[in-house]
Amino acid sequence: AKAAGGARWALFDADRNRRELARYALSAAIPTALDRGEFYLDYQPLTSLRDGRVLGMEALVRWRHPELGVLRPDSFIGLAEETGLIVRLGGWVLAEACREAEGWSAGHDDPPFVSVNLAVRQVHRPGLVQEVRGVLRQTGLPPDRLQLEITESTMMSTAEEPVRALRVLADQGVRIAIDDFGTGYCNLAYLRDLPVTELKVAGEFVAGLRAPAADPGSRTDERILASLVSLAHALDLTVTAEGVETAEQADRLRAIGCDAGQGWHFGRPAPADRFLAQWA
Ligand code: C2E
Ligand code: CA
Ligand code: CA
Repeated sequence: AKAAGGARWALFDADRNRRELARYALSAAIPTALDRGEFYLDYQPLTSLRDGRVLGMEALVRWRHPELGVLRPDSFIGLAEETGLIVRLGGWVLAEACREAEGWSAGHDDPPFVSVNLAVRQVHRPGLVQEVRGVLRQTGLPPDRLQLEITESTMMSTAEEPVRALRVLADQGVRIAIDDFGTGYCNLAYLRDLPVTELKVAGEFVAGLRAPAADPGSRTDERILASLVSLAHALDLTVTAEGVETAEQADRLRAIGCDAGQGWHFGRPAPADRFLAQWA
């Protein structure tokens, strides 16, 4: 029995090694894939809960891999962060998102902003301010039509450089959103130090929202959400709820005072034209 167990373990180990190798091979292929134009962006609308207007669109990166098909970011972003390749990939995402967003203004008085995810490494890199400024200059996108999404863990370190950089960008009108708010470490000091303009509340709080009578347990999620909305509004921040999948959730969020929603209920990630056509 012991020997069999050992064999099973060896098998499992070989399997895990193979998966690790595959992961690294995938990551190592990122620079070539960038050169070959295999990455593209889908967008997902951030929709006003007051009037249904599309306020902004989040850029979500996809990889059209020649052998593996279209890959979702979860299968390559983590590794790109570990290896540092995220700096190049993220740079491409930023430039491409701003380039596309500049084109959204045609025929719109109040075109949506574009919201770009920044990895920890990108924010902690010395050249961030120059990079963002350079992209805005080259694409001609006004600074207030760019939102940068950073996670709470980005602000975990006590480094002053990222705070300084984000403040310089915010002073020029760039929007700063805290992504997945409520799931990180509960240290809110960064809200005092950072020029944040928006909180994006993680979908897990939204998932529990139901009509009050239907599920008493959902009251806890609703109370947490209501508290986050009060906190945000007291600090003059807007709140976007993520992962809104049903009309009922959107109704509850509106009742709580949440400003905007993002999720399948408002639109699944798709090429920007899909949403631009809706407004025309
Ligand atoms: P995120 O920033 O929290 O992005 C939202 C994710 O939730 C997206 O997954 C989106 O497709 C998914 N989603 C949207 N609406 C719903 C809904 O109603 N229900 C559910 N269950 N899910 C919904 P996606 O596109 O696979 O992206 C996953 C993560 O990858 C993102 O999470 C973000 O952290 C990361 N990511 C995506 N693009 C980039 C990028 O360009 N740079 C960096 N650093 N990270 C990125
Ligand atoms: Ca995000
Ligand atoms: Ca998020």
